Amino acid sequence: QSVWAQVQQGPPDAILGITEAFKKDSNPQKINLGVGAYRDDKGKPYVLPSVKTAEGKVIQQNLDKEYAGITGVPAFTKAAARLAYGPDSAPLNEGRIAITQSISGTGALRIGGAFLQRHYPGAKAIYIPTPSWANHKAVFLDSGLEVKQYRYYNKDTIGLDFDGMVEDIKNMPKGSMVLLHACAHNPTGIDPTEQQWRAISDAMKEGGHFSFFDMAYQGFASGDTDKDAFALRHFLAEGHQPCLAQSFAKNMGLYGERVGAFSIVCMSQEEKARVDSQIKILVRPLYSNPPVHGARVASTILNDSALNKQWLGEVKGMADRIIKMRALLKENLEKLGSKHNWDHITDQIGMFAYTGLKPEQMTKLAEEHSVYATKDGRISVAGITSDNVGRLAEAIHKITG
Ligand code: PMP
Repeated sequence: QSVWAQVQQGPPDAILGITEAFKKDSNPQKINLGVGAYRDDKGKPYVLPSVKTAEGKVIQQNLDKEYAGITGVPAFTKAAARLAYGPDSAPLNEGRIAITQSISGTGALRIGGAFLQRHYPGAKAIYIPTPSWANHKAVFLDSGLEVKQYRYYNKDTIGLDFDGMVEDIKNMPKGSMVLLHACAHNPTGIDPTEQQWRAISDAMKEGGHFSFFDMAYQGFASGDTDKDAFALRHFLAEGHQPCLAQSFAKNMGLYGERVGAFSIVCMSQEEKARVDSQIKILVRPLYSNPPVHGARVASTILNDSALNKQWLGEVKGMADRIIKMRALLKENLEKLGSKHNWDHITDQIGMFAYTGLKPEQMTKLAEEHSVYATKDGRISVAGITSDNVGRLAEAIHKITG
């Protein structure tokens, strides 16, 4: 009898299943819209030129490979905080933001979940939107938090259920923890407007709720990193004391380098020092300290003004290509005579479009047209190219008739 005889077969990862099916398909015109990674207009992975230059600079410096401290590369975390909170941020300039490098955005969420589980003074439950990034629930459950939900998506309008969201926030017990997607909501691509964010902030304040921002796509939504940070910065200006998970996977294309940060806004430097000590106590037994290479690359980009400017241009280039593909998809569907309203394709923002297609239609798309994406109707717009958008529109038109 093996030691592992009792281990049950678990279900496969939803996204990996799609990649498997895509690989097996022999159609040379097959399209993979499942993966959440940017592709160029030839459908190829994209290493940003600013990243290549920064890597060259890092290698040139001939640095050693000693451990970073528990909270990572200080030049990186300092610059990451400045990018998110803004150079004029009061808590930043007053030195009261505790920050640690993390294993990309997922690691930031995991450290955050664990910190809240240990130290949040209220109920140990966090509310996430319906729907949310599929990993949120698992990350927070594994952190020992209870996971609850609030309304977010309105399937009838394929838009934001703003009234439902605010009503749910108002009905939460006082002092609840709420996860908010800072921009480019995954999977729906639907963000609140600035005016709606103001109302959400008011409702959060009224309930004395705690906000946890997940910012995995700063710059990727609008092409402007300041604009995409509006919600976080507005909450700060309104006196909230949020925490934040940052990822550089998408906006720097550093996916596999696992570059991210987790930060907590404190009320004083003295409080920040206490929070910081507890973050270290938490991280040390988890992974001791983070990898240095990706953080050095990101830090080089963020701290070199010429390279930073170049990078912002490249982020905008990625965002613009995605916006263009949204417009082309809609235009092609209209040209084919589709009777449906496809405005949501261009209204939505970020890497994903929530098409409103039903699971049966997504199955048909894969089986009859070799177009692969998740069953919830989410397509990765980054997988659309000038070459395949026509064929994609035809396929969608055929199944929606
Ligand atoms: N949050 C959201 C909403 C995401 O979409 C992602 C990436 N898919 C992440 C966090 C984390 O990604 P990573 O760990 O690669 O930074």
